[in-house]
Amino acid sequence: MRPTGQLHLGHLVGALENWVALQDEFQNYHLIADYHALTTDPDSRSLEANSFEMVVDWLAAGIDPARSPMFRQSQVKQHSELHLIFSMLITTARLERNPSLKEQVRDLELETVAYGHLGYPVLQAADILLYRGEVVPVGEDQLPHIEITRELARRFNAQYGEVFPAPEGRVTKFPRLPGLDGKKMSKSLGNSILLSDSAEEIAKKMRTAVTDPQKVRRNDPGRPDVCLVFSYHHKFNPGEVAEIRKGCESGQLGCVDCKLRCAAKIVEATAPIRERRADYASKPDEVRAILREGEARARVVASETMDRVHQVMHLG
Ligand code: AMP
Repeated sequence: MRPTGQLHLGHLVGALENWVALQDEFQNYHLIADYHALTTDPDSRSLEANSFEMVVDWLAAGIDPARSPMFRQSQVKQHSELHLIFSMLITTARLERNPSLKEQVRDLELETVAYGHLGYPVLQAADILLYRGEVVPVGEDQLPHIEITRELARRFNAQYGEVFPAPEGRVTKFPRLPGLDGKKMSKSLGNSILLSDSAEEIAKKMRTAVTDPQKVRRNDPGRPDVCLVFSYHHKFNPGEVAEIRKGCESGQLGCVDCKLRCAAKIVEATAPIRERRADYASKPDEVRAILREGEARARVVASETMDRVHQVMHLG
């Protein structure tokens, strides 16, 4: 995950909840992609503070530091080295076809594409394969990157010798949570509800959410299946989905009431996270020690992998 600010509900339902559940089944590694963050903002001054905030969010969501190391990409040098080796094994044409690159160019209205943007999935492949990752829990937007990772693993193994597994992506039940404007929820689009938002902020933001454009007046019948607020009810208020559908379709339930009911459920679902967040945020030394320890553990695995890479490549 890139440390671009505080995390939002899309991160929670598209990635974090999955990470927490997978801890019981796998040895997890959690990467703070601080170099990747430079693709959308070259100003590096906020990276350290944002990385800290993100670790606090992860801990609050339930990542267990004793089991799952958390570490910054920039602090494990082998990421850069493996990225360089992988960059020789893929064509620019293949990277130009990457659909998430096209989506970013469109959404962020980029006029030019930096090499780092084009090579984003190559660095991501290094991030995954340095830990010989087998399963990568991601949101839907990341699946094309996992495909590139598999191709690079296969190409490296065929060229030099068997080192890397071909990892599979694993999406959650909510692989693409829309933001308040209906586009993908994203920090850079300013359409998100943050994990740290207060109950008042959540209600205020929910009031601005777009709904079915055909439901203009309170009593007009609505179409829940095209309404993003209804999709939030699915996630955060599953017990009342049938009743909300009926109320919306019959015109008895107005959008404002529907939104405020949804806001209350989001507040309820995220309250324990906010509580734990406040607790960790008040213990910055403990959080920094967790990060330091995670980085030390990551370096051990990264260096083992690179020893194998050097060996099969006959380098040193
Ligand atoms: P990023 O902020 O792009 O580094 O995303 C970190 C992780 O969160 C990736 O696995 C994304 O796929 C996931 N993610 C980000 N935004 C959303 C969203 N709106 N819905 C679902 N998953 C998301």
